[in-house]
Amino acid sequence: HAIKTGEKRVQFYTADFLHCMQRQLKIEHCLKQAIETEELKVYFQPKYNLANYDIVGIEALLRWHHHELGVVSPDEFIKIAENAGLIVNIGRYVLKKCAALINKLQVEKKVCVPIAINISGHHFSQSNIFQDVKAVLSLYQISPQFLEIEVTENVVMMDYDIVIDQLTHLKALGVKISIDDFGTGQSSLERLSKLPIDSLKIDRSFILNLSEQPQTQAIIKAVLSLSDALGLNSIAEGIETQSQEQFLRLNNCNLGQGFLFAKPICEEEIIALLNNLSSG
Ligand code: C2E
Ligand code: MG
Ligand code: MG
Ligand code: MG
Repeated sequence: HAIKTGEKRVQFYTADFLHCMQRQLKIEHCLKQAIETEELKVYFQPKYNLANYDIVGIEALLRWHHHELGVVSPDEFIKIAENAGLIVNIGRYVLKKCAALINKLQVEKKVCVPIAINISGHHFSQSNIFQDVKAVLSLYQISPQFLEIEVTENVVMMDYDIVIDQLTHLKALGVKISIDDFGTGQSSLERLSKLPIDSLKIDRSFILNLSEQPQTQAIIKAVLSLSDALGLNSIAEGIETQSQEQFLRLNNCNLGQGFLFAKPICEEEIIALLNNLSSG
């Protein structure tokens, strides 16, 4: 009997596994085309100064709608892209799209704020993000202070010289650097104080649990004072309610991002939003 149950479990697991593999292969195959045909769209979510609601930056986020697969979320396809060796192409693609937008705003003499690009840890070892950024800056004739790189906590905490090396060069060039999803990885505080970074982005999971969990409030307060002590900007991601916003503002979190203010929007919409700033 026990063996039979075991057999069933193995069969069930196998079917599930196969289904999952098929979807991954399909995504991988379609993703290659999606990059070439520009079916991958870059969306933009504003970052706000919580003291006066000025837009102080923008984060670039990929959106993909495939005619058969439907909407595929970046949480799913970025992992596949990393494993399939496609992530450097994606990183460069987003970088180019953002540089083109910055160039357009500059040429039209519109208000422009730094645009942040999420860069995978794999990009540092499979390419050189510093060289990739430099190439794009000269191609689009834009200044480095309009670009920002977001890397997750674990990527910068790995004892990996090439990551620090490339980030140090980027920072020296004037590109801004943020640690994304802060609080979910494994930080060494000693290392944190030595990194060439500008901001800490407090992970959305903390903001989500803020109202119900006193421990979470304590963690956020601790991260905010740490960030302040290290002379860094603090930004909270995933702010959805006024009470979350109020807590953050009262505890000196200077920047915020979330559906309460704006969802990620397409290029035309972000241009319109920035144009309103110039005229109003
Ligand atoms: P992330 O960089 O931490 O981005 C924040 C995520 O939170 C985004 O999800 C954003 O749409 C979502 N978000 C922002 N505000 C709110 C809110 O108030 N409520 C809720 N529920 N969600 C909010 P998204 O766009 O699905 O991206 C997920 C992750 O995929 C990103 O996390 C990032 O790690 C990765 N990703 C997205 N675009 C790129 C890209 O161009 N390159 C790379 N390497 N990774 C990307
Ligand atoms: Mg990010
Ligand atoms: Mg994040
Ligand atoms: Mg995230």
